Amino acid sequence: MNTKHLTDEAVQDFVLQETTDSEISRHISVCADCKSKVEVYRALMNTMDSIHPEAFPFDLVEVVTQRIAVKEHKRKTLGSYALSLLLSIVILGTVLYSLSILKPVLQVFHSLKMIDNALILVTAICICAFLLIDITRQYKKKEMMLFQ
Ligand SMILES: [Zn+2]
Repeated sequence: MNTKHLTDEAVQDFVLQETTDSEISRHISVCADCKSKVEVYRALMNTMDSIHPEAFPFDLVEVVTQRIAVKEHKRKTLGSYALSLLLSIVILGTVLYSLSILKPVLQVFHSLKMIDNALILVTAICICAFLLIDITRQYKKKEMMLFQ
């Protein structure tokens, strides 16, 4: 009699009936250790078969389909690029046109000291960053509410 016990792979193959090796079945019939291993693996396989997929409180397929639809919609909007380009041209034109109007405003900055200009610039950057972060946070919050 073979005194070496079966490997886990051999026991799993036996449980899944993927082996036709008569040595393995003979060993299992005489060895209590390997027989108990087979019972454990059979119980495990039966438990795995009886586990049902996770049930969600929402329709998962619908949510995924909506997300895919949103992504496809984003891809299709080539017109949005044209709109962005048009808006950029309008803004640039407005800025260039209003440079003559902005001259007195720019002269105010020229008359200020360097440290005052730096302070104004840093303050403006901080306000813009704060607004951008706030807008992003609100957008994420709304997005989360939408997909809950
Ligand atoms: Zn054994």
